[in-house]
Amino acid sequence: MRIVPSYWDEDLELMSPQRLEEIRLQKMQKHLRFAHQNSLFYKRAFNQAGFRPEEIKDLDDYRERVPFLSHMQMIRNQRVTPPFGDFLTMGLKDVSRIYCSPGPLMMPFSAGDMDSYINTTANGLYICGARRGDIVDITAAYQWHLAGTMMDSAFRRIGCAVVPGGSGMTRTHIVIMKRLGVSVMFAFPSFAMHLADTARKMGIDPATDLKLRLIILATEVYGNNDKTMLAEAFGSEIREMYGGAETGFVAAECPHGGGMHCFTDSILEIIDPVTGKNVTAGHQGEIVTTDLSRRAMPVVRYRTGDLTEGLNTDPCRCGRTSPRLMRIVGRTGEVERVKGVYMIPEIINKIIRRHHGFAKYQILIDRLRFQDRLTIRVETDSLDERPTMRQTLIDNLRAVTQLTAEIDLVPVGTIDQKTPVVIDNRLSSRTDTLDPDFER
Ligand SMILES: [Zn+2]
Repeated sequence: MRIVPSYWDEDLELMSPQRLEEIRLQKMQKHLRFAHQNSLFYKRAFNQAGFRPEEIKDLDDYRERVPFLSHMQMIRNQRVTPPFGDFLTMGLKDVSRIYCSPGPLMMPFSAGDMDSYINTTANGLYICGARRGDIVDITAAYQWHLAGTMMDSAFRRIGCAVVPGGSGMTRTHIVIMKRLGVSVMFAFPSFAMHLADTARKMGIDPATDLKLRLIILATEVYGNNDKTMLAEAFGSEIREMYGGAETGFVAAECPHGGGMHCFTDSILEIIDPVTGKNVTAGHQGEIVTTDLSRRAMPVVRYRTGDLTEGLNTDPCRCGRTSPRLMRIVGRTGEVERVKGVYMIPEIINKIIRRHHGFAKYQILIDRLRFQDRLTIRVETDSLDERPTMRQTLIDNLRAVTQLTAEIDLVPVGTIDQKTPVVIDNRLSSRTDTLDPDFER
């Protein structure tokens, strides 16, 4: 009988928290030195903050003195000095992959960066329960963003047989899953729910006609019962991984739940989004990450804008010693994530201002059965031209932001001056509301 090991990297995953902190500290010091020496952006940022990397002696110094990095800071810097801003630490001959996020934000990776990301992601998938011999369908996009290709490489590193399904083509996913007996699926929760609905419309019961034993979700904001709903719909185990385009995946959920184990190759902090200070374990706050292995474009103390319930530091029955990142409960700051991609109000503002005849506008985000919906309400007095204006705006938004929005054209004076430009109703949305017009 073949013994299947329980851990991907037993030494690291079972290491005492004290020893792990020592290793992290060494790696962090080395990483700060590297970023300061090789990237003009960090040289300037650290100099402005008034410290040299060798002055950072422990994690307290790090939390006190190393400045935060935001998504908009990266975009602005790359706009001034395209294409990579002042981030790139090496010559192009050493860059092997460039991911592009809306903004646009260019994310260069060296071959070594990719290898380390793939290993860490594989470790996460292994924690979730993926194993050699599984047939995996990846339903995340393979174009531009990190999720699809990164997952593809990581599952194959474990020894899984990967079906590169990619995003969209819902019915084809179902047909192929049934025919192949796909056992594991990687998906965004909204798409997983959509798949279950579509399967039923096709006369296929996802719980009994498909062989999915495990669904690994790229975590998003969701309600308390949403995971249970998905588990019942597919008759599968549901696990989550947390990550983003800038940080890669940084935490994964083991079979015992209670949150997602934080990976050892990054420093994950939970801060009070207003004061910027670290909160104590178990308290809600914004997730801040530093990847300690990435070289081509270091990302140091990146404010993800994601709000978590906090860190669970209780011992886990799986034996892994890393704390667990609890549920993502919302977003903070200047950048919202809609349908898994960033929605930057500043860019939407630019697109609207490019057109004549538009006055005030408002961005509304809500969620129906796991599916984000973006509505842009725009005031106009050019009533006759509404259909053309609406279509042009939809096309331009899609081209620039990769997002599909509903455009609600209203007479001038409809939008209340006192309401905010961005209204995110997702946390208050009921997940059981039916949306007959849904189409991805
Ligand atoms: Zn565990």
